Amino acid sequence: MPQQSYPEKVDISNCEKEPIHIIGKSQAHGVIVACNKENLQITQIGRNTDEFFGIPYNDLLSKNLSALIGEKAANELGKEIRSGKQLEAREFKINEVEFIAIPHISGESLIVDFEPAMSDLNPFKYQRELSNILNTLGASESPEELCFDVARITRNIFGYDRVMVYKFDEEWNGEVIAEEKTDQLESWLGLHYPASDIPRQSRELFMKHRVRIIGDVNYSPVPLEPELSPINNDPLDLSRSELRGVSPIHIEYLQNMKVGASLTAALISNGKLWGLLACHHYSSKIIDYYHRQTCEFLTQIFSNELTLKETNLYIKKLEEWGKIRDELVTQIESESKIKKGLTDKKVIFTDLMDCEGGALMLNNKLRLVGETPNKEQVKALIRNYLSGKSEAVYFTKNLSKFYSPAEEFTDTASGILSIKLGRSNNDFLIWFRPEAIQKVNWGGNPENKAGYDEEKQRITPRKSFKKWTQNLTGVSDAWLDYQISAAGAIRESLGSIILEKQKLKIDNLNKQLMRAHEELELFSQGLSHDLKAPLRGIDGYAHILKEDHYNELEKSGKKAVDTILSSTKEMGELIDNILSFAGVSGQSLDKQIFSVNHLLEDIMETFNIRVNYSGTTVKVESELPRMMGDKRMIAQVWSNLIVNALKYTEREDEPKVEIGCMAKDNKSVYFVKDNGIGFDPKFKEEIFDLFSRFSGSNFKGTGIGLAIVKKIIEKHNGRIWAESEPGKGSTFYFYV
Ligand code: ADP
Repeated sequence: MPQQSYPEKVDISNCEKEPIHIIGKSQAHGVIVACNKENLQITQIGRNTDEFFGIPYNDLLSKNLSALIGEKAANELGKEIRSGKQLEAREFKINEVEFIAIPHISGESLIVDFEPAMSDLNPFKYQRELSNILNTLGASESPEELCFDVARITRNIFGYDRVMVYKFDEEWNGEVIAEEKTDQLESWLGLHYPASDIPRQSRELFMKHRVRIIGDVNYSPVPLEPELSPINNDPLDLSRSELRGVSPIHIEYLQNMKVGASLTAALISNGKLWGLLACHHYSSKIIDYYHRQTCEFLTQIFSNELTLKETNLYIKKLEEWGKIRDELVTQIESESKIKKGLTDKKVIFTDLMDCEGGALMLNNKLRLVGETPNKEQVKALIRNYLSGKSEAVYFTKNLSKFYSPAEEFTDTASGILSIKLGRSNNDFLIWFRPEAIQKVNWGGNPENKAGYDEEKQRITPRKSFKKWTQNLTGVSDAWLDYQISAAGAIRESLGSIILEKQKLKIDNLNKQLMRAHEELELFSQGLSHDLKAPLRGIDGYAHILKEDHYNELEKSGKKAVDTILSSTKEMGELIDNILSFAGVSGQSLDKQIFSVNHLLEDIMETFNIRVNYSGTTVKVESELPRMMGDKRMIAQVWSNLIVNALKYTEREDEPKVEIGCMAKDNKSVYFVKDNGIGFDPKFKEEIFDLFSRFSGSNFKGTGIGLAIVKKIIEKHNGRIWAESEPGKGSTFYFYV
């Protein structure tokens, strides 16, 4: 795809997108020569060659670069390009005039910027300048002092009328934080400039080409000939050219400020554009290449010193803060309640930050400390704003900009820094900062970025740079890097403590639950036991009535005595069953290996099954595998299952019960199968619940038998399940 070319019309409305790196023009204090990097044939050239070299540009186009710099130098340069080495600046005489040629590679082209040599480089003076830079900047004690030192030293070396250190904020607005100037100029120290004054693409270019001069703001731009590169038909990328022409908007901006020349150098900290060293002169001024190199060296030293000083400050703050954090963590660990550890002890969580108040929301309980919005406002802030944020650490100095209800409480919470506690989206620790009365002095009203110029028929940059004071509302002091790191670190510490505490809480709950369970069993055992004595009394007297006075009673009296006797029998069974159900969990297992066939034989005899159920065919598989478990308990499993099978087949024409075993997944699975009434398979889990009965009132029972069976099987780490269909019989399977 062909590259976009420089647009016909550029004004402030599209300057964010202005492709200034392909502007296609050079400044007037030198000549841009572009060659094919393969053969050094000149492909594009500034139209001002005649003025500098005494040769019309048409005579040079398509020639080899050797026509300008001689064959030997051209050969050497070709060799250097092929070796991929960094290309250094070099000097040439062209038609008796000394030039500095600064070569670099741009895509397919070799671009050489020719500038007239201005002075002989005096090695002594140069060395003095460099060591002066090193000594002065190395001795600055704080980042602030460093900025003033760099401004002073820059002005001393290069002699600009005004030198400023311009620092970007997080939104790329700039502030003049240090300044050196001639006395008669008005000071711009402390003035702010909106981000649009140095648009994004200019900032990106500063990262590629760090020192840039505009020799004469009122220069006439020199077009390149031809406009597009014959190699690929693209505009030439001049990002790294020393002589790249200047954006017309920027020129107008400088003209509006009455500036005649400028030097701008990137100030970088931790790999990011931190600010600019901006130098203004009120007439034209050119700094030669070597001095620009000195300036680059200076900014590098500045960047290193700045990073070092900021890092030292950061470490110092981290240490101070680390002590508070350790104390907090110890407090929380030694307290059973996290809330208490964070808010009620010697050190509280708000001590971690410069803030006026804080909030702790944990398990739906809110605790406020210091100056804060009210409880409802904080709860709404969490519910409607913070809980929707994906970030674990969130901060802003201007909450109301993003969350409009915060306009109500800018006096306590213009700024917030919050951390999510654990994985919950409802638990937060929040620090609040009130509105800082901020007067921002702008270099001109930032709202008036531009005005419409009738004559030029386009929007032009603002003309007034008069100090314009804005009162910022709803904005707190900014949260600093180390404070944000501190919040992140306390979040991690709290996270593990919360987990630990939650585990402890669950363990305790478990213990309580087990205790409650045991108590309940003891209670039901006791209750059932106590019920038996009066029941025995009722049963005894009912028997006396029946045996000694039955004949004296009328029909209804006889019926009443019979009902009392049958009811006490039923109740006796129910109590026995409850007692044995409750008894299962309390008993320990007395495990042994025993013969299942023998056991079944005993059961048949105990219940006198052959007599009581003489109509039922009971088939027991011979040589069933032996079992290991508590024989007494397992006997209860078998008898309950067999009694059920007999009970629920009783009314069939040919009742059949089959007992056997099959192998499944390496286990011996025993089964009791019958051809009785069966049950709806949807109850196949519920039939094992206590007191659940699905056979209607035709069959007597308590609904406890299968619950006992299941409990015993589970105590043996086994499993029991049933298959059935109404009217088609049931099979109960189990293994232990
Ligand atoms: P119950 O004393 O009522 O027999 P159980 O706990 O032994 O109590 O059984 C619970 C319910 O499971 C019974 O009421 C019955 O509905 C069903 N059930 C148990 N065994 C069988 C079976 N062999 N055939 C059909 N239904 C059964």
